[in-house]
Amino acid sequence: MTPKKVVTSKGSGARTPSAPVRKNRPTVKPNHVVTLMASITALGLVSFLLSHEAIATYFSPSHAESVSLPLDIPQPTSAATPVSFKSDDWQTVTVVNGDNLFSVMGRMGFDPVETQRILEAGPTAATLNRLVPGQRIKMRYDGSELSELVYENDGINVVQIRRGQNGFEVGNVRRNVETRMSYSTGIVDSSLFLAAQQAGLSVNLTIQLANIFGWDVDFALDIRKGDRFTVVYEEIYSNGEKVRDGSIIAAEFVNDNRTHRAVRYQNADGHTDYYNPFGQNLRKAFLRTPVDVSRISSGFGMRFHPILNRMKAHHGVDYAAPIGTPIRVTGDGIVRLKENRSGYGKTILVDHGNGYETLYAHMSQFRSDLKPGMKVLQGQIIGYVGNTGLATGPHLHYEFRVEGTHRDPLTIKLPSAAPVAEEDFPDFKEKTARYVGLLNSLNKTNVALTE
Ligand SMILES: [Zn+2]
Repeated sequence: MTPKKVVTSKGSGARTPSAPVRKNRPTVKPNHVVTLMASITALGLVSFLLSHEAIATYFSPSHAESVSLPLDIPQPTSAATPVSFKSDDWQTVTVVNGDNLFSVMGRMGFDPVETQRILEAGPTAATLNRLVPGQRIKMRYDGSELSELVYENDGINVVQIRRGQNGFEVGNVRRNVETRMSYSTGIVDSSLFLAAQQAGLSVNLTIQLANIFGWDVDFALDIRKGDRFTVVYEEIYSNGEKVRDGSIIAAEFVNDNRTHRAVRYQNADGHTDYYNPFGQNLRKAFLRTPVDVSRISSGFGMRFHPILNRMKAHHGVDYAAPIGTPIRVTGDGIVRLKENRSGYGKTILVDHGNGYETLYAHMSQFRSDLKPGMKVLQGQIIGYVGNTGLATGPHLHYEFRVEGTHRDPLTIKLPSAAPVAEEDFPDFKEKTARYVGLLNSLNKTNVALTE
């Protein structure tokens, strides 16, 4: 058994800017991914119970190979002092389901009035109102008195509360983290999620993988036995301890003998996306639906068809969904109109450029800060389903127009999102070449193992 190896980058800085945030990535997924996500909830539980390393070592010994490359993600230095938990005086409480700070502190024999003082110690302390099961709170006592409390918000941002002269003082510290690179390869036998789990991929990374390729591969319907994947990804470590998975850096999915590849690239403006090695965007410029498909109801006596009315009298698609269901803008664009019309009710019109426009009507509410002229990004919430205007029931009326002509958004061939800009292309090639090379070498190993 060869243990899974990781490649480590220098851990000098506190933050990896290219790590997990992809602002323009849609949070609504293509339909099949949503279905898929629903079906993996049970698997997710299992994988969280077993540690990442344990699964990797136990299930995928023969699929791992050691590769050594530098990972020179820029790491800005931070003035923050690292938090040390080494002292013996520290006691740790783990947040459980239903906990709030009062119940946690109560377990430690702490007075509710003192707990209230902690929460009122400053705006940062308010994050202690949003405890999540599994998080840890560390406390240090000076005699019987609490002298310090440390709350690991997300494993990287740490809230530190100290008893000072005039009550509790709050500080926010970023722990020093290092980014390591790791990879997994796997072969699908029955489902992608099972194979991913066996290859040691977390649910988080598996969903990332499905989202990256979900525009081209229908993971619910098109998966074949023998499909293969290779994923190169980041892991975030602090004090030698893995804090969480980062983002996928590069990936390959061979579906039905067709190879799909993705590399992550961030341009000088900070725009990050996944592209194929030729610089073409893997995303489409538009989501197929503006409402999360799992929220679409089959109302109005139409038992199985969630869509009330499609491109008939009024040139749009109606989605029946409960009042308050989030509506997501289907593509990047500029808000042109935000108004209350007599027939359409609360309506937003978005201009996507190149002659594309989308319209969203009958909303119950607009997103509060939305204004005409504002830029919106694909997948952002712009409002909520309602029945304002002439609506027979709560639904979203959605129109997709190309050069002023109404088109059926469910059947139209959607354009791809913007490719790597011409001026960025040399930089793109240079930065992603090594990952393409890595996919090549991992792929060879993987194929050799299958034969
Ligand atoms: Zn309609």
